[in-house]
Amino acid sequence: MNIFISADIEGIGGVMGKLHADPEGARYQQACEWMVEEVNAAVRGALAAGAQRIVVKDAHDGANNIPLDRLHPAAELISGWGPLNSMVEGVDTTFNAVFLIGYHPRAHTVDGTLAHTWSGNVLDFRLNGEPIGESAWAAAFAGHFDVPVALVTGDERLKAQLDRELPAGFEFVATKTGLAFNAARMRPIAKVREDIEAAARSATVRASQIEPLKPRLPVTLTVRFRHWEGLNICACVPGVERLAADTFQCVARDMMEAQKYFVVLHRLARPAS
Ligand SMILES: [Zn+2]
Repeated sequence: MNIFISADIEGIGGVMGKLHADPEGARYQQACEWMVEEVNAAVRGALAAGAQRIVVKDAHDGANNIPLDRLHPAAELISGWGPLNSMVEGVDTTFNAVFLIGYHPRAHTVDGTLAHTWSGNVLDFRLNGEPIGESAWAAAFAGHFDVPVALVTGDERLKAQLDRELPAGFEFVATKTGLAFNAARMRPIAKVREDIEAAARSATVRASQIEPLKPRLPVTLTVRFRHWEGLNICACVPGVERLAADTFQCVARDMMEAQKYFVVLHRLARPAS
């Protein structure tokens, strides 16, 4: 049994603002401590259920938040971004389940703490016409390799979105309840870690009963950006159609190609400074 863990920071218990999520923020180091503790709880749960190999992908900002010497000694760590820029890059058919730790609601979620999709420049993101966030996008990438998402942790506001976006059967641990973009009611941090360990254990045992997310192929990707002023270049990408001043669409033969389209569009769409 092999488990792939992807960790973001915005959905970690205690995190509520830029002061935690931004590497320049005053409480960023503390947020990294909280992040590694939640990841370690998931590792302990997976090991208790018999996992042999556990790989952790750091997936926030520069992907260099988890201190290797604080990570559970049984886990390997992927630091930095691979060529595809995926939050689950490194997953392959040798893994039995993916865990998403510290994930957050998608952009435009009114009460979602630090709700966003990739950079703050993506306002709306659709896969085959359905709005999704980073969790489902990661799940579809893992689904390309037939690996299901068996555990997600984060803001309770995320759960309702995932019930529509992911195949049923995954475990969810709420770390907090979002009250606004920069506010949340936090659950007791020790209890959150206890719950993550128990859910990781159960998710590892039940992984084979959960379906991977496999979108209908070819996949249609639709991206609406916040800043439309400099987007002419996105319309120059072969195969990309401009639906509106701020909205682009393309059709990809599979999730790997869809990921490449998204990475290129997202990079080209960076607001001019
Ligand atoms: Zn993040």
